[in-house]
Amino acid sequence: MQPVLEINNLTTTLFLKKGPVRAVDNVSLTLSQGKSLALVGESGCGKTMLALSILGLIPSPPGRITSGQVVFAGRDLTSLPERDLRAIRGNDISMIFQEPMSALNPVFRIGAQISETLIFHKKLTKNQVKSRRIELLKLVGIPAPEKRYNDFPHQLSGGMRQRIIIAMALACSPRIILADEPTTALDVTIQAQILDLIKDLQEKSKTSTVLITHDLGVVAQICHEMAVMYSGRIVEHGDVAEILSNPGHPYTRGLLNSLPRLDRDKDLSPIPGTVPEISSLPQGCHFHPRCPQRMDICSKQDPPVVESKSKIRCWLYND
Ligand code: SF4
Repeated sequence: MQPVLEINNLTTTLFLKKGPVRAVDNVSLTLSQGKSLALVGESGCGKTMLALSILGLIPSPPGRITSGQVVFAGRDLTSLPERDLRAIRGNDISMIFQEPMSALNPVFRIGAQISETLIFHKKLTKNQVKSRRIELLKLVGIPAPEKRYNDFPHQLSGGMRQRIIIAMALACSPRIILADEPTTALDVTIQAQILDLIKDLQEKSKTSTVLITHDLGVVAQICHEMAVMYSGRIVEHGDVAEILSNPGHPYTRGLLNSLPRLDRDKDLSPIPGTVPEISSLPQGCHFHPRCPQRMDICSKQDPPVVESKSKIRCWLYND
């Protein structure tokens, strides 16, 4: 199947006082139509930076895409001028941001905020905008949408605000949605509704999704492929069912072992230590100080990517 998005050797560098550091390091991924790709890893592993890089939203300074391509509809987004990128953002590719309260403008009614995208990209008439925003509010499960679109963000609950963000992301029926922890701040019942909605869009509208999450339960429910990120790199990438049942990389295994599970009465075994600062990454495999299977070579040389059932970046799989 022809990929809808192709990321080739993408590197995003932050030019800090300490020197340049790679927040996204040589990442290559593809996304197929109607499929969902999960970006998984602890906070600080580069998931959000990768999503922002796709949309050309890296704050500059200090960041800049220093190499690679993001190919969408035959065009390399990394080389497009800002005006062309603006026509794509929110229209062909939209993003659901993590924090609904900071993503919404507190002084504008939610109806006006949804309309803005429709007016900018679709040039609809006043009546068309009105009926589309009611349709969108219904789609994301907002009760009495004819009344609620006059509300300000502070009049809505956290779950409803998140649904408004999703309605804004869906307004122009994008081909790709980048969802950054869309359900983290929600209680489990709302979380289930939002996940169902994303799944529905994949099936009915063939929307492709990049889902950023640290919740492997969510990944198992709605994603087809997963890429595990550590210190800006992909360390394991492949089919979700395959990786979850047979994780290859010690970091992926560590993430899975850190999850509470009803079918296991063993104590949780969290990964020791913390994610390193990208400005002071250890030599060799960046995961080696935390890895229970490290070998001598791990602290000296970077492991290459090996392709088996999934693609794994680890010396354990190299002859
Ligand atoms: Fe562990 Fe070595 Fe593999 Fe890194 S390369 S994950 S340290 S075994």
